[in-house]
Amino acid sequence: MAIRRIFTDNAPCLYKVCRPVEKFDKRLSELIDDMAETMYDAEGVGLAAPQIGILRRVAVIDCGDGLIELINPKIIETSGEEGDLEGCLSFPERTGYVVRPSVVKLQAYDRNGDLFEYTGEGLVARAMLHECDHLDGHVYLEKVTEPPEGFEDAMDDEDDI
Ligand code: ZN
Repeated sequence: MAIRRIFTDNAPCLYKVCRPVEKFDKRLSELIDDMAETMYDAEGVGLAAPQIGILRRVAVIDCGDGLIELINPKIIETSGEEGDLEGCLSFPERTGYVVRPSVVKLQAYDRNGDLFEYTGEGLVARAMLHECDHLDGHVYLEKVTEPPEGFEDAMDDEDDI
């Protein structure tokens, strides 16, 4: 395993639509292992392949409940709405208030090529949406809005995804 370089700010790889994974081979497993190690090393809770310069539809998430590996993820259902501060490993030292659905159901493949469904709530749902945006060349800064009055008081620690 190896820690990869995380691209930041205006790096072109952050703004490209990623291609689906077609081969579920050893190389893919190595990429996922490297992404998890890179995410943990950077103390983030999510990382998408384009953030390390790989334009493939792969993401990893760990919001404290264990590693979730997403290959070719597709959002199939969302509900609710929640605003919170969001950060990103590709935009260090910054956060912004983003409103997103609070429950997200997606479909994805695991590293063996098996399809599964996963439903996340709260921060996990936020991370799933944030990573899926990365795979389409979008970054959270496009979605930042003004927090509602009084939000500062309820502020949690932000997590980079
Ligand atoms: Zn991010």
